[in-house]
Amino acid sequence: MPLKANLMKITRQYTIQMVDLYGQYLRLKDEIDAAIADVIETSSYINGPAVGQFASELAEYNNIKHAVPCANGTDALQLAMMGLELRHGDEVIVPSFTYVATAEVIALLGLTPVFVDVDPDTFLIAPQSIKDSITSRTKAIVPVHLYGQCADMEAILDIAKAHSLFVIEDTAQAIGAEFTFSDGTKKKAGTIGTVGTTSFFPSKNLGCYGDGGALFVQDENLARKIQVIANHGQRVKYYHDLVGVNSRLDTMQAAILRVKLRELNNYCSKRNRTADFYDKQLGNLAALTLPQRMANSSHVFHQYTLKCNTFNRDDLKQFLADRGIPSMVYYPVPLHLQKAYRSYGYTEGDLPVSEDLAARVLSLPIHTEQQEEELRFITDSVKEFLATNNLA
Ligand SMILES: *Cc1c(COP(=O)(O)O)cnc(C)c1O
Repeated sequence: MPLKANLMKITRQYTIQMVDLYGQYLRLKDEIDAAIADVIETSSYINGPAVGQFASELAEYNNIKHAVPCANGTDALQLAMMGLELRHGDEVIVPSFTYVATAEVIALLGLTPVFVDVDPDTFLIAPQSIKDSITSRTKAIVPVHLYGQCADMEAILDIAKAHSLFVIEDTAQAIGAEFTFSDGTKKKAGTIGTVGTTSFFPSKNLGCYGDGGALFVQDENLARKIQVIANHGQRVKYYHDLVGVNSRLDTMQAAILRVKLRELNNYCSKRNRTADFYDKQLGNLAALTLPQRMANSSHVFHQYTLKCNTFNRDDLKQFLADRGIPSMVYYPVPLHLQKAYRSYGYTEGDLPVSEDLAARVLSLPIHTEQQEEELRFITDSVKEFLATNNLA
């Protein structure tokens, strides 16, 4: 019996999950246990040596000068906007079809979120929609590399240059993805715009065992400034030059992330293997649209997201649930229609693609620990649903 199956048998009954954090841990158990024990031995829980070591290794991985660790991916976005000195009333362009964190910090800082639409096939922020939303108050664009592939950064950088805008890449779902420019230059997600942000939330592609985040910055001064803001605005202890926040990556999390970073490329390949399997098994079914891959970006498949064309998505979700297969809706309500963002004055029909996707998308389980048997059971079940409902 393979090691993993054996361990599973001892520790718990196998269930299909959206992500399998425990199974992933078991493969690295000795190394991770040792890394955690090491932090406890030194009891250097805040800003211990692993934090700086991880930051250097992460910067090297992404081929950028500075990685600045912080407490979570939402803080990373906030720190980016504070570091760039965005001010009350400045407009920040953000896709409506994304996780709330992206827009939340804009509102929190008293900036104005300007929601724009996404591409119906790739789910990514649509350059034309950005262009149409630029005003004299626009200061920044926040492209989100949703589900694991890069937005069209070449087009976005052109727009940003033409209007002198900052570009803050939210790469919480796409760490490790790579964008290829038309001249052949390749850059990692998060290192293309002015600043990149990411999250190490446990279920993210590079997840820790709690909350964590980081920023990617090429510019030395901006990196320093963000680091200072993340540490109560102090360059020297108890001397506060800027109004800052408390946003640090725990030493324990950094120690775990150092071990897992070495596996990141391997994790990306495993997720791609699942996506390839789904593509092959579920292709050519008119009732479903499979996730489209950008020609100029690699994909790290944080999510594998179907569009349900000719039937109610919730019926498929229930059918799968009855067979013990989880599936998730990322995200059921576009941000411009969320209650908390009503005051910005959007109404239904303003961003039709985002609204349509919110009603149709369904994400299947995808992670690093799936066996073919599990994947086949999932795709057979999807096909069975379609056949049962005369949709195949
Ligand atoms: C997860 C996520 C965030 C926030 O990260 P946290 O670490 O949970 O704060 C931001 N943006 C996107 C697109 C995300 O998926």
